[in-house]
Amino acid sequence: MVNRGCTYEMTDGLACQAPALRGKTVCYWHDPEKAEEAAEARRIGGMHRRKAKSVATIYDFAGLRTVESAQRLLEIAAIETLALENSIARNRALISAAAGAGKLIEAGDLEERLTAVEAAVGPKAHADGDAAFPEEPVR
Ligand SMILES: [Zn+2]
Repeated sequence: MVNRGCTYEMTDGLACQAPALRGKTVCYWHDPEKAEEAAEARRIGGMHRRKAKSVATIYDFAGLRTVESAQRLLEIAAIETLALENSIARNRALISAAAGAGKLIEAGDLEERLTAVEAAVGPKAHADGDAAFPEEPVR
């Protein structure tokens, strides 16, 4: 049997279309028999998101999508580790952080240089015909 997806009508008038439960026409989130369980899952999910947002705000952490934010995480870890009592494990963690910092500094430097080169070469460098790997998306 083909799973045609959840038929629950969303507030925008379109069908949910999430995979329907076996033998049903609705998904887990829209099955009236699972309403209590789904509500609890939503509540727990909300608590986790709020906690993650609070911790991220406290540590001024914006994720791991840029070299800068990865450096921020490394700094936080290094500061927290520095505050611990001296031990072999603490020193190993700090040495590892220093090594990681070196790699991030190098990556950040390369990113900066690449941006400068791209700016100097201009938009022609992004023309599809010039791409070494044309199947790759242009950034
Ligand atoms: Zn649904």
